Amino acid sequence: MNFNNQIEIILTDTTLDPNLKSIAQKVKNNQRINFDEGVYLYEHGSLSYLGVLANYIRNKKHGDLTYFNRNFHIEPTNVCVYDCKFCSYSRLIKEREQGWEMDVDGMMEIVKKYDDEPVTEVHITGGVVPKQNLDFYADFFRKCKAHRPDLHIKGLTPVEYYYIFKKAKLSHYDGLKFLQECGLDSMPGGGAEIFHPEVREKIAHDKCTAEQWLDIHEQAHKLGMRTNATMLYGHIEEFRHRVDHMERLRLLQDKTFGFQTFIPLKFRNKENQMSDVPEVSVIEDLRNYAVARIYLDNFDHIKAYWAMISRNTAQLSLNFGVDDIDGTLDDTTKIYSMAGAEEQNPAMSTKELVKLIKEVGRKPIERDTLYNVINDYTDFVFEEDEKPKFYNLPVIN
Ligand code: SF4
Repeated sequence: MNFNNQIEIILTDTTLDPNLKSIAQKVKNNQRINFDEGVYLYEHGSLSYLGVLANYIRNKKHGDLTYFNRNFHIEPTNVCVYDCKFCSYSRLIKEREQGWEMDVDGMMEIVKKYDDEPVTEVHITGGVVPKQNLDFYADFFRKCKAHRPDLHIKGLTPVEYYYIFKKAKLSHYDGLKFLQECGLDSMPGGGAEIFHPEVREKIAHDKCTAEQWLDIHEQAHKLGMRTNATMLYGHIEEFRHRVDHMERLRLLQDKTFGFQTFIPLKFRNKENQMSDVPEVSVIEDLRNYAVARIYLDNFDHIKAYWAMISRNTAQLSLNFGVDDIDGTLDDTTKIYSMAGAEEQNPAMSTKELVKLIKEVGRKPIERDTLYNVINDYTDFVFEEDEKPKFYNLPVIN
């Protein structure tokens, strides 16, 4: 797809708001936009304008390539010592009988279920409970690596690590170094929510602060780990809070270049303490992906979790800056379904993911966690889709 022409149309449009035109010129010139311009985009950028800019950047970075991986999740518990107001997934310690708490053997049973499957990554995240401590995860990471050394462990967020390291009286750096030696490979992006204290104190007052979240990622980057970052949007935050969130990530990325992917997470309002807050529209989802793609010039990838936003919106998002739609999942995560996502049993075969990407004219690339290409499915024909063969029919005399 060629988006050069479209950005030229914007730049020569005499009716366009001069501020939007100046931002488009910056994007064309590969210049970074500032905080005020980020807010201005959210306030004044139309869907089509934002789509053109985001696509222009996506096209320059990745062309039509669209990434996915073969993975599964382990959610060791949904019981949690914290009380995030937006969380539909967790059960407080006093209600723990309504939730689940796995032991290391139970987690290994899940790993072993994939022994004959070509998965490349296990994604581990969940609630925070005292007994799933440093020793617990050290034991699991060691056993998992001993059983299947090639399986990439993308495990836990600063929310869990902050709690675990504090209990173990370890610095963020030392705690992560120890777990890295046990087998931890990288970190997912959860727990970031909205960094700005005006919002964070209202929706997630008792878990790690923005500074602690960012420091744990910085220490992981120092240890050579790659990590991701999320942003929970579409609830009580204002546009300036979203831009502040991305600004903090952009600053850390300038320092470490350890982030791989930014993942906007849509607030869903099913069965949580913020059920009275309406969800934003699909249009706002797409605008948000686009602004993220424009603002985070030093992030390689923008990801849309298809399980969270639905398959159709994931397809649309590929025209708004998104280049990754995550994995096969195999119905191993409850986080999105319990929050009210359309996908109640999220699982997609490789074939389905490939079809989804091809349907919107993009090139499906299976990647590993670190974006090494495993398979280019652009011209791949699945066996069952091969043209029917002709058989000799028996001749009846
Ligand atoms: S969002 Fe995470 S930290 Fe917050 S209550 Fe839910 S499981 Fe616990």
